[in-house]
Amino acid sequence: MNILVIDDNERHLKAAEQTLGGEHALTTCSSHDEAYNLLSKRGYEKELLRRAEEHEIDGTNWPGLNKNETDPFWDAVLCDLLMPAGKMAQGGEGLRHVGKVMPVGWALALEAAKSGAKFVAVATDMNHHHHPTSAMLDNLNYHQFQIDGAKAIFTNCISTVGINGTERECSGCSGAGSIKRDDEKYKCWRCDGTGTDFAEYGKDWGKILEALIDKK
Ligand SMILES: [Zn+2]
Repeated sequence: MNILVIDDNERHLKAAEQTLGGEHALTTCSSHDEAYNLLSKRGYEKELLRRAEEHEIDGTNWPGLNKNETDPFWDAVLCDLLMPAGKMAQGGEGLRHVGKVMPVGWALALEAAKSGAKFVAVATDMNHHHHPTSAMLDNLNYHQFQIDGAKAIFTNCISTVGINGTERECSGCSGAGSIKRDDEKYKCWRCDGTGTDFAEYGKDWGKILEALIDKK
């Protein structure tokens, strides 16, 4: 699948590479303005050509470029909920709001559905006690919406994966793999007994995509 993942947090984009990068053609983007650009046909085509250049091949004859103007381009668009707002259309007064963190995910999801993506998700790791925008998703978690033919979910309930390269001695058991309590040894829940955990975790986008594909 041709997948676009939008998130302003670097570790969540690294997690996208880890959980989707192997199986799919993945593009990641970290800003609101860039996301709008990539959700347009022109932006998408530029991205295809960039990818071709990266792999030192002639991309001008790629099937993705020769599709009809009305054909969908991204198969799946998975995005964050809260991100710094972009500059689009802003001038004067409006510029004061540019860069402020807003729940832009809703609009990006609708944009993605409109562009023909078949699978759309908005996923936040913000604790629902810490931001009303996250709490708004409490009753929507993993309900599957049909928007313009796209399957769409909005969720604040997500799994995370440890970011490769940030492995360290488990902070729960100090590397022992087990925790002693009342003379009994229990397997450490944090590292599942391995003695290793991660300094950084990111969203498990692979599971989010699975949730979209599995449900009818
Ligand atoms: Zn542990």
